[in-house]
Amino acid sequence: MNIILFGPPGVGKGTQGIRLSEKFFIVHLAMGDLLRAAVKEKTELGVQAKSYMDAGKLVPDLLVMGMIEERITASDASNGFLLDGFPRNVAQATALNQMLTEHALNIDHVIFMEAEESCLIERLSGRLICKGCGFGFHRHYSPPKNDGLCDRCGSELYQREDDREDVIEQRLQVYLKETQPLLEFYSDVDVFSKVNAMKSMDDVFHALEKTVQG
Ligand code: AMP
Repeated sequence: MNIILFGPPGVGKGTQGIRLSEKFFIVHLAMGDLLRAAVKEKTELGVQAKSYMDAGKLVPDLLVMGMIEERITASDASNGFLLDGFPRNVAQATALNQMLTEHALNIDHVIFMEAEESCLIERLSGRLICKGCGFGFHRHYSPPKNDGLCDRCGSELYQREDDREDVIEQRLQVYLKETQPLLEFYSDVDVFSKVNAMKSMDDVFHALEKTVQG
């Protein structure tokens, strides 16, 4: 099963993407995580991507396209994949369609997660991410059981550089201009659905699960 999960920054794609991919035994491909790993390893791509990411801008399409093609065709994705944070604009979505055709792959669900801007800002500014497994927590709404440590794997939690208030603002602007048009792009696709993400983490998960199970 192949899924595209999209929506604004802070809507919970990462958290729900991890849970969904575990539930349906598919690989979770978060473009932001792949890029952060490349930055950390200082690969050529990571060095080029860093300044865009720090500024809350999209990394150029050419850099991300190769990465995604490699991952969706890798052996660990043979049971399926969940794309989180890709595509992020119409050019990427168009290129993805072409790539899927070339590799005889289909998308089973395109799911848009929606939430109001005030909710996104609150979520992003209090967000803590696990350095080990990438799972997300929130200082107030879903704090870890042990301060600063992940409930799932025990690794240290950190605040992302781009979860600063000025960068959050820029990321939301980029979302409106670049990513929101995907709603129209996918609106007439018969596997498209919307999920209200302004509920508790478990309620949102159950709504997503229901959508996927049909
Ligand atoms: P995320 O972890 O999804 O919030 O992504 C963090 C940052 O990585 C974004 O603000 C962009 O700079 C970059 N990024 C993630 N996905 C993409 C993409 N599909 N295209 C271009 N840049 C991306």
